[in-house]
Amino acid sequence: MAFDSKHNQEKSNAFDPDALRAKYSEERDKRVRPDGNAQYQEVKGEFSYFVQDPYIENEIKRDPIEDEVEVVIVGGGFGGMLAGARLREAGVDDFRIIEKAGDFGGTWYWNRYPGASCDIESYIYFPLLEELNFIPKEKYTNAPETLEYCQLMAKKYKLHERSCMQTEVISAEWDESIGRWIICTDRKDRIKARFIVNSNGPLNRPKLPDITGINDYKGHTFHTSRWDYSYTGGSSAGNLTKLKDKKVAVIGTGATAVQCVPHLGETAEHLYVFQRTPSSIDVRNNTKTDPEWASSLESGWHAKRRNNFESFLAGVYQKEDLVNDGWTELFRNLFSAFRKRRPPKYKIATWAVSSVFSPKLYKLGFESYMREKFLNFVGMDNLMQEMEMADFEKMEQVRARADAVVEDPKTAESLKPYYRQFCKRPCFHDEYLQTFNKPNVTLVNTEGKGIDQITDKGIMFDGKEYEVDCIIFATGFEVGTAYTRRSGYEIYGRDGISLTDKWKDGLSTFHGMHSRGFPNCFFFGPQHSAFTANFTYSLDEQSIHLAYILKTALAKGINLIEASQEAEEGWIETIVEKARLTQDFQEKCTPGYYNNEGHPNVLAQNTFYGGGPIEFFGLMDRWRSDGNLKGLELSNK
Ligand code: NDP
Repeated sequence: MAFDSKHNQEKSNAFDPDALRAKYSEERDKRVRPDGNAQYQEVKGEFSYFVQDPYIENEIKRDPIEDEVEVVIVGGGFGGMLAGARLREAGVDDFRIIEKAGDFGGTWYWNRYPGASCDIESYIYFPLLEELNFIPKEKYTNAPETLEYCQLMAKKYKLHERSCMQTEVISAEWDESIGRWIICTDRKDRIKARFIVNSNGPLNRPKLPDITGINDYKGHTFHTSRWDYSYTGGSSAGNLTKLKDKKVAVIGTGATAVQCVPHLGETAEHLYVFQRTPSSIDVRNNTKTDPEWASSLESGWHAKRRNNFESFLAGVYQKEDLVNDGWTELFRNLFSAFRKRRPPKYKIATWAVSSVFSPKLYKLGFESYMREKFLNFVGMDNLMQEMEMADFEKMEQVRARADAVVEDPKTAESLKPYYRQFCKRPCFHDEYLQTFNKPNVTLVNTEGKGIDQITDKGIMFDGKEYEVDCIIFATGFEVGTAYTRRSGYEIYGRDGISLTDKWKDGLSTFHGMHSRGFPNCFFFGPQHSAFTANFTYSLDEQSIHLAYILKTALAKGINLIEASQEAEEGWIETIVEKARLTQDFQEKCTPGYYNNEGHPNVLAQNTFYGGGPIEFFGLMDRWRSDGNLKGLELSNK
């Protein structure tokens, strides 16, 4: 049966939902592998060169440090920087940020590949914009401006003077006898700290496919997060002149590849793009910042805009779409469909959603109860069906764009994503699809299988060897592996128990931030907390939360903070309970790191807070308003 989308009855595009459902599950089934995360290998040992820092100009030479600070923050990305900034605001100045890279920036320090930029609107992606009185130059910023902004943040909050760069933490151990953490580094530092904050970033550890022959390759190779400009020439703006006489292969077609492929295609003698699953490539439509708009912004605009965007993504009704881009489109269409149709049920529903789901009321804590009431009223099934139809419609547009842009029909077909928009990170680009019209660019569609083998000369797929001078791995980052494997250091809590041991049967935290047995130790999520596309928002909320706890503790002379057994067990129950809300969606998705490589909720306990970020932030806000640090055991001994 062909379905004439209710959202766009005036449009003629028709699709068959049953056929699309069948196609989506067929494409998913092709890709689910029993080995899940084990299909990738850890970048260590003989692969260590994949994670060396190619950007350090002057290596720091210094003696080991042996001293004590109040707070050690591990990680100098946006999380660590925000933690420092919010601690400064709270009057906690005695902290030290330890960062293995040469400077601040985290993911932006490492990911300087050509074309690197952010698909989340810069006006909401950059944190502390009002505090820094800064407006990015364009709606979607790029890597250089983001790194510049990190420098501005560091300057404003005097972070450099409280940091230790080119230094990698190798262990953190709780010393019960003195009530301090002992943090050891690869520079033989031994730093004591009352509190430790682990802000390691969710995408910090590059991964490689565990493919036969990967060691045999004799050509040049690197991972996108350690771009070798000495080999390619050029800069993050492109112009990779040294590739003019080189045959290059890129493995992977995720958000990173989508941004660097156009630059590679521009200059390489020949580019082979090895695709396992196509990304969804929607219109980007970047624009310069309108100075008039920028000067019209009133105090509080930033928080309002961030919250508005996040609400759209969480399906929380908003009257106005401030960001108004491809991320918010799905729910924008859905809400406007509710409004347009206006049968009484939806009229009331619209009113109910707008009043009940307003962020203000969220803070009052009625959301779970009222959401349930609302969903019962509208009908959960109805809402889910509407969302699915809006999604089909959106993805039909994305697929039609591939047909419209890519000249070769077979290549166009191969570039069409058959899954729901938020199964994988949606991409927005205005040159990626066009690259496949170039005579020097070949898409090797592996039909969900991935490449077969790497040889000494290149890549084998389907019996054919593609000889190349260089293989670039755009294969992403470890997400579903053990926390300490990704962070790169072990944490030993009370009685010498390691975090790896404590979490071996599943994550165990209170609010994602504390874990019993690890006193005065704080973790920045997304594990057990908010998973959001605009991740700096979540990091900022976590920093505010951390600063509140530390300020309160220090003011009250509290020396020890630890999650109570009861609170931690309660939080795990909440995480498991809320995981049910997303389970069905994730199970039907094509594999990727969003759904644990096609094995979602193998352990429901290991997921994010399933109620969504807005609900989570509201919960944390109310917890702070209570003022009694409920769920934490406190001691001033
Ligand atoms: P991803 O994990 O998103 O992509 C990895 C790619 O490698 C996928 O296409 C994957 O295919 C492919 N792959 C893995 N193994 C094989 C194999 N054996 N053979 C062939 N292909 C293989 O990593 P990215 O670095 O692209 O992106 C990571 C995240 O970084 C994004 O999700 C986003 O959060 C962030 N980011 C944001 C950007 C933005 O704002 N625009 C830009 C870049 C990154 P398959 O899909 O089949 O698994």
